[in-house]
Amino acid sequence: MMNLSEAIRQVYKNVGNIENEGQLASYIPELANVDPESFGVFISTTDSCQFGVGNCDDKFSIQSIVKVLSLALAYKIKGGELWERVGVEPSGTAFNSLVQLESDNGIPRNPFINAGAIVVADVLLSNLANPRDEFLAFVRNISNNASIDYSPKIAKSEKAVGFRNVALCNFIKDLGNIKNNPCDVLDFYYDLCSIELTCKELSELFLFLANNGRKTADGEVILNTSQTKRINALMQTCGFYDESGQFTFKVGLPGKSGVGGGIIAIYPNKYSIAVWSPKLNSKGNSHKGMKFLEEFSTMAQSSIF
Ligand code: GLU
Repeated sequence: MMNLSEAIRQVYKNVGNIENEGQLASYIPELANVDPESFGVFISTTDSCQFGVGNCDDKFSIQSIVKVLSLALAYKIKGGELWERVGVEPSGTAFNSLVQLESDNGIPRNPFINAGAIVVADVLLSNLANPRDEFLAFVRNISNNASIDYSPKIAKSEKAVGFRNVALCNFIKDLGNIKNNPCDVLDFYYDLCSIELTCKELSELFLFLANNGRKTADGEVILNTSQTKRINALMQTCGFYDESGQFTFKVGLPGKSGVGGGIIAIYPNKYSIAVWSPKLNSKGNSHKGMKFLEEFSTMAQSSIF
């Protein structure tokens, strides 16, 4: 098997040469203010190796990638009860789709589509005294990185145009699966999505999911083994909206994308790898990020299947 850093170097070069297809997520105005040519990769392994290339130290908006972390905290607090509020099936629909909610009585198919993440945000609001601060403390502790923060600029930009999320949240409220004021739920949801990280920070933050739910630095248990298995399983089956099957087929790792152009992928017991390239394909996933991970897992023979 090829050395991981050598594979990253080679695939970064190959994918750097393909046409930079796709569009920036300009439906959130602030996300259009990034250099479309940015392209970074960073890997952190459970045996403490790190390697990065390109724009791996530039911050970007992690958007939906945060949904894995908000789910982790809600699952830690509520345990299996959480699955009464949100499902665990792939939706086969776009990230912001409304279509299944009515027939599913307001129970979103999974926690990674917007509807599901909005319900998870509602669960956190109901169970934390200071949800904004406590969520940030949770994330900062996982990665021992006190500089992680929300971006008020990005949250405000999304709020100003978040008409579809308003529709989703109000629809679910009407169906009885939002317990708090929809405006408060959405404000918290926009804050969550606004967090900015570099590829290095993102791969460090997610390494606990490759390490059976424990921090590599001091062994602290963030999630138990069963919870970790389930979160990774959800990333495998639902992490890329209606392209989740394609990602599993081509890459073969649990992962999660965000419309900021980031992708995180996990190889249990080995590594977490973050890729960022902001131009998105028609499914809302990073065009180059998807290509990179497909070629990387093939070249390095590094897939869980
Ligand atoms: N904040 C984004 C939204 O609600 C997240 C979507 C994503 O990253 O896929 O539209």
